[in-house]
Amino acid sequence: MAARVYIFDTTLRDGEQSPGGSMNVSEKLELAVQLERLGVDVIEAGFPIASEQEFEGVRRVGEEIRKPRIAALARAVTADIERAAAALEPAANPVLHTFIATSDIHLEHKLRMSREQVIERTGESVRLAKSLVGRVEFSAEDATRSDLAYLAEVAKVAIEAGADVINLPDTVGYTTPGEIEEMFRYVIARCEPPENVVFSSHNHNDLGLAVANALAAIRGGARQVECTVNGIGERAGNTSLEEVVMAMRVRNNVYPYETGIVSEEITNASRLLTNLTGLVVPYNKPIVGRNAFAHEAGIHQHGVIASRITYEIMTPESVGRSRSELVLGKHSGKHGLARRCEDLGFNLSPEEVGELYERFIQLADRKKEVFEDDLRVLVASMRDQAFVTWNLKQVRTSGHDPTLGMVILQSGEGEVIETATGDGPVDAACQAIERALGVQGKLEEFIIRAATPGREALGEAHVTVDFGGRRYNGTGASTDIVEAAVNAYLNAANKYLAVRSGA
Ligand SMILES: [Zn+2]
Repeated sequence: MAARVYIFDTTLRDGEQSPGGSMNVSEKLELAVQLERLGVDVIEAGFPIASEQEFEGVRRVGEEIRKPRIAALARAVTADIERAAAALEPAANPVLHTFIATSDIHLEHKLRMSREQVIERTGESVRLAKSLVGRVEFSAEDATRSDLAYLAEVAKVAIEAGADVINLPDTVGYTTPGEIEEMFRYVIARCEPPENVVFSSHNHNDLGLAVANALAAIRGGARQVECTVNGIGERAGNTSLEEVVMAMRVRNNVYPYETGIVSEEITNASRLLTNLTGLVVPYNKPIVGRNAFAHEAGIHQHGVIASRITYEIMTPESVGRSRSELVLGKHSGKHGLARRCEDLGFNLSPEEVGELYERFIQLADRKKEVFEDDLRVLVASMRDQAFVTWNLKQVRTSGHDPTLGMVILQSGEGEVIETATGDGPVDAACQAIERALGVQGKLEEFIIRAATPGREALGEAHVTVDFGGRRYNGTGASTDIVEAAVNAYLNAANKYLAVRSGA
C-alpha cells in the first residue's frame, strides 16, 4: 500500500494573512465546510491570540467542522498557548500548533535569545501545550536556514516533550529541493523519532519552489504537507494544495503516495476562495487557472476527442471542472438549479434556493447562457447579503468631471436617498453611500472582471475597504459593472456596520 501523506490546510491561517486575503468568521466557516468536502486532514483555522475575531474563527470552525482535525497557532509563550487551547475547546480533534524560530538570524535579530534558551523554551512550551490539548505540532520557524545539528537537537527536545508532529518550515522561501530533502533525512535520522511522530513540511513560494520543495521533503521522509488553496499566503504564497496533490496523483509512479483529497472538489474550493476574498487566480495558474485546460476548446471544435491524451496529462473532470460549462437555461427549473448548486458545493436552504432562482431568472433574461461560474458568483454575492442591513435599490450616475452619483438604499427601517460627486461613476456612487450611511472608508483594492466569457457577461466586483482601521471585503455581481462595484462597496460597508453594532 502506498504511504499516506497528510494534507494540512492553512488557507484560513497563513493564507488569510496574505494581503487582501482576510475573511470574517462566517466566511472562514463557509470555506472550512468546503475544505472538509475536499478531504483535507487538518484545517489550521487561525492564530487565536492575534485578535478576538481570530479566536472566534477558530472556535466556530471547531464547533461546526467535525471530520478534519482543527489546528490553532500559538507562539511558544504561555499566553498564546493558553489562548489557542481555549479557542480549540469545542473541537473534536484539536491540534495545538506552537512554534519558535531556530535559525541564528532569527535568534539574534528577532528573539534575542541564545540557542540554549530556545531549547529550554521549546521543551516548556510543548509540555504546556500537551497538558492542554491532546495533539501538539511543533514548528521550528526558519528551519531551512538553521544549523542542521542544532535543528535536530530542538526537534528531539520537542518530541521528548510530547510533540506529535514536527514541522520544519521554509519560512522565507529560500531552500531548494535537493537541500530540503537532505534536511529531512538528516533531522529524522538524528531524532530517531517514535513511529507515531509525523514530520511536516511548510514552504513558501518566494522562488517559485514551494511545490517542488514539498515533494522533495516527502521524499526525505515528511508525511504531512502544509499548503493552501490557490497557494495563497504571505508574500508569494504557500505550497499550492491543488498542485502538490495533483503532482502526487498524476506522477504516482515517481511519488507513490496517497492523500485523502477528493480531487473533484478542487475547483469548487478554488472558486469559493476567490469569491470570498477577491484574490483572483492568474489565468495560467496550474490546475485552477482559467486557461489550465484551455486547449480542450480547440479540440472540441474539431471533434477530435481521441487525441485528448496527446496534450492532456489529467482530465479537467478529475479536478472538478466540467467539460461543458454551460449549466442552465431559463427553463431549467428550481430543482435543476438546486441540484447543480449541490454539485458546486453549496448547501442552500430552501429559502436561499428560492432567492437564487429569482436572481438566476433575472440573469437568464439578460444573458442567454448561464455558466457554472456565473452561478458561483450569484451565490457568493447572495451569501454576502447575510450581513445586509442596507440594500441597494437604485443607483444612477451622470456626467463626468465631476460625475454626479445618486443612490437609493433600503433597510428594514425605510429608504435613504443621497447624492454626491466624485471622479467617475463608481467613486460618485460610493461617496453617496458613505454619506447615506455616515461612514467613511478607504478603498484599498478594487477588482472587476467578467465571471464568464461573452459580451453580456456577469460582472463580478471585489473590493477591500478600510473602515475604522480594519479591512472588509465586499463582493457584488451584476451585468452592469457600476452596479456590481457599488454593490460590492455596500456589502463591505454592511459588514463594517454589523461589526460596529456588535452583531
Ligand atoms: Zn507560513
